[in-house]
Amino acid sequence: MRLNDKVALITGAARGQGAVEAKLFSSEGAKVVICDILDAEGKRLESEINSSGGSSLFVHLDVTEESEWQNAIETTLRSFGKIDILVNNAGIYKWSQVEETTSELWDQTMDINAKGVFLGTKHAISAMRHTGGGSIVNISSVAGLVGSANAAAYCASKGAVRLLTKSTAIQYAKDGIRANSVHPGIIDTPMTTPNLLATKEARERSALRHPLGRVGTSEDVAYGVLFLASDESSFMTGAELVIDGGLTAQ
Ligand code: NAP
Repeated sequence: MRLNDKVALITGAARGQGAVEAKLFSSEGAKVVICDILDAEGKRLESEINSSGGSSLFVHLDVTEESEWQNAIETTLRSFGKIDILVNNAGIYKWSQVEETTSELWDQTMDINAKGVFLGTKHAISAMRHTGGGSIVNISSVAGLVGSANAAAYCASKGAVRLLTKSTAIQYAKDGIRANSVHPGIIDTPMTTPNLLATKEARERSALRHPLGRVGTSEDVAYGVLFLASDESSFMTGAELVIDGGLTAQ
């Protein structure tokens, strides 16, 4: 199995891409700490994984709260003894052009999407260093690589994740800690069903933005995250894995 004996903490894992990653990691032998603000969904996923023979634990974590990060890392160490993999996946996406973006929306987006990744990285590093290293996978977006017409704060936050990842990679390579970013195109999840995929026409428009002619699935992203989390990518750090059906190749 590709993650045998590894311990992985995934944020925003109660639903969407994070939930699919939690299930995939478990099926590849990892013990998984499911973190989210959605307690009912998170506990349901914990039961689902554990009743199918896996080992998982739900921990309530608002990624913007430093004390909750301390609790999540301490709980992981107490329950599973170490942390090998951190997937900073939690995020929000709200449509807004620059002039329409309120200070509140800017702060909320930067807090969850960028500061949340910073806090997670900060608190996982000492635990990882203790056991000789680890892999941090930060979920950015194509919006962290190229501009998006409707997402001012989102683009800024995902661009921040891209460069925080590279900064982390070069600072902690000596400790055996790798950090890489993932850049999905439009993925079919609860984040996009109310907007980019809301109607048949919207879904077709979204699909056509990708040269491969469809939007992505959570599984498309999860297999890339699995690769970066595992030792198969042991010579990769500070890299960008683009999973976008060719969207940014144009
Ligand atoms: P999703 O289904 O909305 O899942 C995101 C999860 O993060 C939700 O459970 C959400 O809870 C949670 N979350 C929000 N704020 C949080 C906080 N402060 N602390 C902890 N958890 C929080 O979205 P997804 O599509 O799976 O997105 C996963 C990641 O991929 C995000 O970083 C997103 O920006 C990125 N991404 C998505 C797409 C896409 O097209 N879907 C494309 C590129 C990148 P709530 O429901 O309560 O907000």
